[in-house]
Amino acid sequence: MLEQKLNDLSLLKHAGFINGQWINDKNGKTFEVFNPAVGEVIANVADLGAKETLHAIEAAQAAFEKWKVMPAKQRSSLLRRWFDLVIENQEDLALIMTFEQGKVISESRGEVVYGASYIEWFAEEAKRIYGDVLPNTTADRRSLVIKQPVGVVGAITPWNFPNAMITRKVAPALAAGCTIVLKPASETPLSALALAQLADRAGIPAGVFNVVVGTDAKAIGAELTSNPTVKKITFTGSTVVGKLLMEQSAKTVKKTSMELGGNAPVLIFEDADLDKAIEGALVAKFRNAGQTCICANRILVQDSIYEEFISRFTARVSEFVLGDGVSSESTMGPLITRKAVAGVVSLVNDAMSQGAKICIGGSVADNGDYFFQPTVLRDMNTSMRLAKEEVFGPVAPVFKFSTEKEAVAMANDTEFGLAAYMYTKDHSRIWRVGEALEYGMVGINETAISSEMIPFGGVKESGQGREGSKYGLEDYLEIKYLCLGDI
Ligand code: ADP
Repeated sequence: MLEQKLNDLSLLKHAGFINGQWINDKNGKTFEVFNPAVGEVIANVADLGAKETLHAIEAAQAAFEKWKVMPAKQRSSLLRRWFDLVIENQEDLALIMTFEQGKVISESRGEVVYGASYIEWFAEEAKRIYGDVLPNTTADRRSLVIKQPVGVVGAITPWNFPNAMITRKVAPALAAGCTIVLKPASETPLSALALAQLADRAGIPAGVFNVVVGTDAKAIGAELTSNPTVKKITFTGSTVVGKLLMEQSAKTVKKTSMELGGNAPVLIFEDADLDKAIEGALVAKFRNAGQTCICANRILVQDSIYEEFISRFTARVSEFVLGDGVSSESTMGPLITRKAVAGVVSLVNDAMSQGAKICIGGSVADNGDYFFQPTVLRDMNTSMRLAKEEVFGPVAPVFKFSTEKEAVAMANDTEFGLAAYMYTKDHSRIWRVGEALEYGMVGINETAISSEMIPFGGVKESGQGREGSKYGLEDYLEIKYLCLGDI
């Protein structure tokens, strides 16, 4: 039982958080939150919809009037306090995450620290929102640029990183002086609500950070995107939903930031340090059971080292221990839903029907029907669905290439452009390939590329905008030009 494991039971919330109040559906309607490792209900959470979203937007607008004029230093201190509380409650937040999402507890602990790093970073950046004084065009004028918060932000987040995908949006929004209405994924509302509870405890004023939980994503999304009070939509999730939200947001010309799907290639050249390449590909593929948008979706290996890579990589994959994430022995947890498992099965079957061979794994595991075996597929070709679609599961398809030109062409042959990785020791190649890859992020001899200090985001249909780094604030700021005449 989750309740018995928590130090602070008040972090486990079952209602939405609007204008500083915990809000239930007025008819008592709730939805179930599952632990995918055991397939059991762990909580019943208020099922809110469009009406509550509207209330949250109104509360956020009212709070915006005060929050935007609060001195940056003060906003920064409140964010810092929130960061401290998240770190102090790391273990409880990690447990809540593992129970509702399934990832192994060490990864959940890591995500809480990673998520908190965005709060810390943007608490610091809040004090560095500078404007410009421009050179004069005429002697009697001065031209200034100031940056102001865009206003009320609508945020929609996925279940794969139930903490960090939220802090990455809420922290820069609040740092910039915006207020926010968040709709977390209905698979993982508890992590979002625990973060709201800690923000409240940190003293972040009522209405600044609101959370609407519910299963009717369409209705909540429709309110957020159509309401003219909302000035910006920030979304992490599938490309298909991202496009829909952009379309809906166009009617009121909202700013949008989109962090959408990926199809990350790992290019492994014959001059690579193979030990490092194997470990890097392993991490990039199997973290969170393969359910991240920067997970290696295609491993492209030069023909001369293909066989060696396959046998050594497969040996490492055989070491994973599938199981309930709360057990310290488990090194990989379940997938989020049965539907997710069915999706992986169908991609693997498609590849096999076109000639792919299984080196290890390949089917649903006997731990329960939410688990899929860590899998390596060889003899892949580019007409298989796995070459084009994000698998979001623990399946590593290994493709073969012979020349650098062919590898780059294969890597870029996708509508996605989030993360790519390459392993090589050749410095000229690093530049050539690094510049040629059509991706927002490129890991070179490294796959653990994310942190709060780097600009995370994609090109092409993987999205727009960047999260983290000094660039992460810009999506929440408007530029205003002030022209001072008669000097
Ligand atoms: P995934 O396949 O990872 O669940 P989705 O894009 O479906 O990705 O979900 C990401 C987030 O978008 C979740 O919070 C989900 O509830 C929300 N969502 C899904 N469909 C819609 C929609 N039509 N409008 C607004 N939000 C949506």
